[in-house]
Amino acid sequence: MASFVDRVIVHATGGNGGHGCVSIRREKFKPLGGPDGGNGGDGGSVILRVDGQSTTLLGFHHSPHQKAPNGEPGKGDLRHGFKGQDLILSVPDGTVVKDRQGNVLADLLGEGTEYVIASGGHGGLGNAALASQKRKAPGFALLGTPGAEQEVELELKSIADIALVGFPSAGKSSLIAAMSAARPKIADYPFTTLVPNLGVVQAGDTRFTVADVPGLIPGASQGKGLGLEFLRHVERCAALVHVIDCATLEPGRDPLTDLDALEAELAHYAHDIQDDAQDTVPLTERPRMVVLNKIDVPEARELADFIRPDLEKRGYRVFEVSTASHEGLRQLGFAMAELVAESRAENAPEEAEEQTRVVRPEPVRKRRGEHRKGFTISRDDRGGEPMCTCVARSPSVGCNRQISTMTKPWVISRTASPSWVSRTNCSDPAPVPVTRC
Ligand code: GDP
Ligand code: MG
Repeated sequence: MASFVDRVIVHATGGNGGHGCVSIRREKFKPLGGPDGGNGGDGGSVILRVDGQSTTLLGFHHSPHQKAPNGEPGKGDLRHGFKGQDLILSVPDGTVVKDRQGNVLADLLGEGTEYVIASGGHGGLGNAALASQKRKAPGFALLGTPGAEQEVELELKSIADIALVGFPSAGKSSLIAAMSAARPKIADYPFTTLVPNLGVVQAGDTRFTVADVPGLIPGASQGKGLGLEFLRHVERCAALVHVIDCATLEPGRDPLTDLDALEAELAHYAHDIQDDAQDTVPLTERPRMVVLNKIDVPEARELADFIRPDLEKRGYRVFEVSTASHEGLRQLGFAMAELVAESRAENAPEEAEEQTRVVRPEPVRKRRGEHRKGFTISRDDRGGEPMCTCVARSPSVGCNRQISTMTKPWVISRTASPSWVSRTNCSDPAPVPVTRC
């Protein structure tokens, strides 16, 4: 069973707006006391909110259909319907929202950042709100509009300062376990790590996070091993650390070949994502360090000493460590902290801006009066009968939906004859009888 999910499809539906109510006040000796139908409540919206406690998108994998509650219909005696509550969905920091075509809609960074994926419908006006000087007792109310529907893809890109990249069994999980309180699964078979692990490391005054992603092998870009599937978790890291196994006995593997293979796979991945991440430093240009691991094994230490000058010539900072004996881990921790501090100093103003960002791309809700503006009463040429004309402002809203059929018989008795609703701006221009005014 899946326990870590970092890519899901969510089908979100906003709540429908409640219908307006048609009602006439009745009291003793005053049978027609004026319209008192309340307005319908607005439907709730489906909102994504970054929550520091949330670490995976697993919840959406199990329940991908999310619907916010509907608004309640209005009632007589001027009772307005309750609004549907917004449905707040907690997502981890670093969740990217995309539409089904793969366009990025929002990048949710920072605790509390919100994104409305489906806004709720508007409640319809009741007949009390529709009354005017000319039409004192409207025998109709407006229907609530349906909530928006949207299908989005959520993708989690972990936010860590340092990412560990390496072949399977190079000792990445052991390194994160030795440096932090994280306890990932460690074993001497490839692909022990199937999901990314995050650990928090404290070195001096600097506290930073380290991500351990499942191992890469040559051909990962063609889907070998676990492929490049998990590299999205290193995309946001400030620096990369190559963990190289100096004690491997596998034929055809040595530290320099391993490093070249890792760099080639990273370059492949960086090429694939270059369109998405235009404003960040490309993956291939991020600062890097090389960690030569397992130097507690004598042959490994010799090999590490031997290749160190070569690596330094290539411009890498090299650290020889053993996660088993903890040798060299202190220096490595401080070097990582230095890198993190540098990158934080560079990005500090931008980060502060992002912390306070609230993404609300949906258009502002219509004011209530706008329903009324689109609704006029005129006379029908054919029979001189009253005619209701609803001007649809958006082609997606069928104007016949705006007219309620909740007319009470004794209200009809006050009006002369049936009326008609014509579909102005709609594909079918023929008048459609739906109600009586
Ligand atoms: P990963 O696949 O890169 O996460 O590697 P693991 O951390 O799971 O380690 C793979 C194997 O290497 C395990 O059996 C570890 O015990 C072993 N290992 C890791 N670090 C060291 C080390 O410094 N010295 C020795 N001798 N073995 C190590
Ligand atoms: Mg591992």
